[in-house]
Amino acid sequence: MVYAVISDVHANFSALKSVFFDLKTRNIQKIYFLGDAVGYGPEPNECLELLKSECRVVLAGNHDWGVCGLTDIKNFNVYARQAIEWTRTNISIYHLELLRKLSLSFRDEDEGVSLVHATPCEPDRWHYLMDVSDAELNFGCFNTRFCFVGHSHRPLIIEKLPSGDLATERRKKHVGRDNRCIINCGSVGQPRDGDNRASYAVIDEDMVEIVRVSYDYSDTQKKMEQAGLPLPLIERLSVGL
Ligand code: ZN
Repeated sequence: MVYAVISDVHANFSALKSVFFDLKTRNIQKIYFLGDAVGYGPEPNECLELLKSECRVVLAGNHDWGVCGLTDIKNFNVYARQAIEWTRTNISIYHLELLRKLSLSFRDEDEGVSLVHATPCEPDRWHYLMDVSDAELNFGCFNTRFCFVGHSHRPLIIEKLPSGDLATERRKKHVGRDNRCIINCGSVGQPRDGDNRASYAVIDEDMVEIVRVSYDYSDTQKKMEQAGLPLPLIERLSVGL
């Protein structure tokens, strides 16, 4: 079984289309989406439509919940709040209802996979899983072999070795047969690791790979400008930060 995990599209339809184009060239049997379909970007309805039709599981992220009022956006930064307000007026009623019904986490017992937008511990608190100490705590909050997370927009693979030590990698990692692993697949629509290409994960048995895909970010930037979205959100797409 070969499957893919994508996250944090943030209404960047150009990035999402390029990722799906890349996925079509591989022998992928299942695609999971970890949330944040909307927020920041200019095409929320188009992104939700494509995600819904192509992904086996579609989860909610903090921006999705922020748009439909299920999470308080007072802790979001000013640009994120402006983008949430813009999304509220530009999303269709149908897609808003769709967002409202998404769950925060999912467990696929057959594949031995847990999925969550932020962290397996307290998924509705939107914590960030950034390093080995965050991972250490979170290994205690799921019981499958793999757990996939998004939210930080920075890809990271953390394997728990039989010794209890944690081994990290950012590109590609073979995971020992009996070992457990937390994988942050990075962000499709707003990468923040200094690489402006879209990011997602492909899992082929024991091999986990973070795939990067170039896309036409100037197309997204043009649409954001026309939509009147905040300039810093437009500019960051060029640098991937
Ligand atoms: Zn996000």
